[in-house]
Amino acid sequence: MADTMPPFDDVLPEGLRFRSPAPLVDIGANLTHESFARDREAVIRRARAAGVDTLILTGTDLEHAEQAVGLARDHAGLHATAGIHPHDASQWSPSLEAAMRELHRMPEVVAVGECGLDFNRNFSTPAEQERAFEAQLGLAAESGLPLFLHERDAGRRMRDMLHAWRDDISRAVVHCFTADRETLYGYLDLDLHIGLTGWLCDERRGHHLRELVGAIPLNRLMVETDCPYLLPRNLPAKLKGRRHEPALLPWIVREIAHWRGNTEAELARATTATALAFFGLDGDDTRQALEEGQRHG
Ligand SMILES: [Zn+2]
Repeated sequence: MADTMPPFDDVLPEGLRFRSPAPLVDIGANLTHESFARDREAVIRRARAAGVDTLILTGTDLEHAEQAVGLARDHAGLHATAGIHPHDASQWSPSLEAAMRELHRMPEVVAVGECGLDFNRNFSTPAEQERAFEAQLGLAAESGLPLFLHERDAGRRMRDMLHAWRDDISRAVVHCFTADRETLYGYLDLDLHIGLTGWLCDERRGHHLRELVGAIPLNRLMVETDCPYLLPRNLPAKLKGRRHEPALLPWIVREIAHWRGNTEAELARATTATALAFFGLDGDDTRQALEEGQRHG
């Protein structure tokens, strides 16, 4: 059945079907989002057809983290994170902490998070956010897993809290980085990794990032869609609905490569090597996903 399916179906207009010159890792795909409920398998197939062989599925609360683990179990090349997003930090409790600790022991889970601080919207109070974040820093130290971090308008506090834990944490990535130069340098000083989304494809609000991308060393830089959110604005064709998906990651790589002065192949190879090392995945994973993709393609 799946063997006869074309790798790209007709959901993406022809002009958007763009295969990366080298395999990519999408380090932030919210594939458990309800907008993917109807056609998740086709989304995964299109990702592979575009060369996006490895997907790190973001787990933002217990329910979604468990779903992400299930998907990772069923698909080669898919892995999960497990954490509580700062928006949901008010849910934090001893039983939730115990459930997260269990998830972090599973082979499908490759990072603690999405966790962190978001003082932009404060859906949970700053005090609740700090409490949940502090506890998850502890879980990362305990498990040895890297951290998948979310920060918005909370750069200084984030740096202070990470600074206190830095020696106990293996690795940490600030996903969907959108802040200023000072915040970026602060993170790089803490030896953190940086995740970039299609934010910088947005000429209205991504301008400042274009001048900053060159300051991020390639062994610290990773790429992500943060789908279904943040559909890039540099796409050459219209997409029905506004849902972003992993198959569109090569367009983000193209934009970053342009502003960094790299070729797309250089940037793809470097960010993939960085991501596989960061999440502790060896090259076999990508190869396995490729073979799987060819079988299903
Ligand atoms: Zn986030």
